[in-house]
Amino acid sequence: MSERAAKPKKPTKRLIASLRKQLEEERSELLAQAASLEADAADESWKEPRSDDDAETGTATFERERTMSLARNARQTVIQIDRALERMDAGFYGRCINCGEPIAIERLEALPQAVDCLDCRRKAERFR
Ligand SMILES: [Zn+2]
Repeated sequence: MSERAAKPKKPTKRLIASLRKQLEEERSELLAQAASLEADAADESWKEPRSDDDAETGTATFERERTMSLARNARQTVIQIDRALERMDAGFYGRCINCGEPIAIERLEALPQAVDCLDCRRKAERFR
């Protein structure tokens, strides 16, 4: 009995269902966001010379790079969400992809796309 109590809680089906809904909503928002950012970045009208001012061209280039990096981040998060959804389908959701230990419920609630535990995440970030 005491052994059972010591085990970390696993996410309930109900929690997983609500996190799945959250992830799916976030996923479609991010996809729309990425598409519109990419459309902005692909718009090359900024290249047309408006003036001889180099500073203006520099700002436009900077803006475009910023837009593209935002789009990349959004796509990256979509990939993470897909991975979490796949793990939900496979029944592995809530287990660390690295060590297999349960991921803290609080972590899943704060970051539903998390597929690794906090310990593994910290280690990965240290080695980056
Ligand atoms: Zn882990």
